[in-house]
Amino acid sequence: MAGRPGRPATAIANRNIAMPAIVSLIHLNAYDDDTVVLAALRQALEPFGGMGGVVRPGQKVLLKPNLVAPSHPDLAVTTHPAILRGVIRLVREAGGTALVGDGPGVGDTRSAARGSGLLDVIEAEGATLADFDSTEVYENQDNRIARRLRLTSQLRQADVLITLPKLKTHAQMAYTGALKNQFGLIPGSAKGQFHFRLQNRDRLADLMIDINRLARPALAIMDAVVAMEGPGPSGGTPRHLGALVAGLDLAAVDTVCCAMIGLPVKDVPIAMAAQRARYGVVDLADITIAGARLDDFRQHDFELVKAPCNIMRILPLPGAMLRWLRRQLVPRPEINGDRCIRCRRCEYGCPIQPPAILPLAEPGRQVNEKTCIRCYCCHEFCPVKAIDLKRSRLDRVFQLNAIANAGSRLLGKLVSRCDFRRWFRPRTKPLDGSK
Ligand code: SF4
Ligand code: SF4
Repeated sequence: MAGRPGRPATAIANRNIAMPAIVSLIHLNAYDDDTVVLAALRQALEPFGGMGGVVRPGQKVLLKPNLVAPSHPDLAVTTHPAILRGVIRLVREAGGTALVGDGPGVGDTRSAARGSGLLDVIEAEGATLADFDSTEVYENQDNRIARRLRLTSQLRQADVLITLPKLKTHAQMAYTGALKNQFGLIPGSAKGQFHFRLQNRDRLADLMIDINRLARPALAIMDAVVAMEGPGPSGGTPRHLGALVAGLDLAAVDTVCCAMIGLPVKDVPIAMAAQRARYGVVDLADITIAGARLDDFRQHDFELVKAPCNIMRILPLPGAMLRWLRRQLVPRPEINGDRCIRCRRCEYGCPIQPPAILPLAEPGRQVNEKTCIRCYCCHEFCPVKAIDLKRSRLDRVFQLNAIANAGSRLLGKLVSRCDFRRWFRPRTKPLDGSK
């Protein structure tokens, strides 16, 4: 991003995809001992010259944890407070001042920070909670989807951005980690508008890379001590991995994390978007792992979520038929009445107007199947895992999604072999209307 004063230049934006990247992988078994957590963080940052290699004395450092909802740390929805505590201490040691913020999709930063245990740490460590209410326009002419984007003003105030993601599965995007964490720099409900306008996970992934290009995070420290498997990013199950993963190249950090959980990067839209944009390294062979061995962390039974099939994009069918097909192929949200506490966060966070989900309506009429775009924001914002993702009856009987995915893969191979891709590629019109 041009013109952000005082930011250290990071190599990542200009990194050639063929260059090797270093990712630090460290054992950290639990969060309960601050001294052990701090030692693990120090060890994780050693290959990069410690925190002092990223933060210079006097700099303001924006720390961006995953703060999607006011969720208890044990649920593994948000970055654990112990990791935040350690990072704040290291920033202070390096002579920096820590601001901590995120833009939760529903509600304000303070209540999300309080509910997830991060506010106590911020106050105890003398850091500042940064709310993301005010925004500024940031510009990068090389961006693919949005050359101009409104992001939090806190980005301009800070000299350095350090992202602190949580390793989780994601119902829409398959995986959420270092690169996707920057989506939270778009404040509050504006995120939902992008879901509505793009309605396609590949374009959404391109947008997330655009955000990274604008925000230029200098470092990622991934909380993979307890990750989330199953229907993430909020409704899944905590899964112990016992790892801290750090790196200057966020795509490489994500690539290592995907390898840990047995998720091929070709199935991760944001990794493929990074590859398209030549933003970092997504080939494990080009990554040097420092610290522990990757094989020590590989999971063979990690419950992944299959990203919904995107074959509809290229099928030459009338719009009404595509919409019907989409309803059959892509799971729909359904409220579980036994767990629902009727807080209406799902309704407030739905990007459709009027909302496609009404938790106070009678069962059976709570989700409008026709207007729901399957963005799963409701699923993400629900604080009590009361939204299940249900496959259609047709899909359950005929395995439509599996068949369509296999067809999609076959078609993809054919297209890449024949180099017909440009004929099928959807037009990536910039959101800001520029040509
Ligand atoms: S489904 Fe979840 S978010 Fe929606 S009202 Fe119920 S508890 Fe709240
Ligand atoms: S009901 Fe849920 S999945 Fe459907 S559009 Fe609204 S937020 Fe997205």
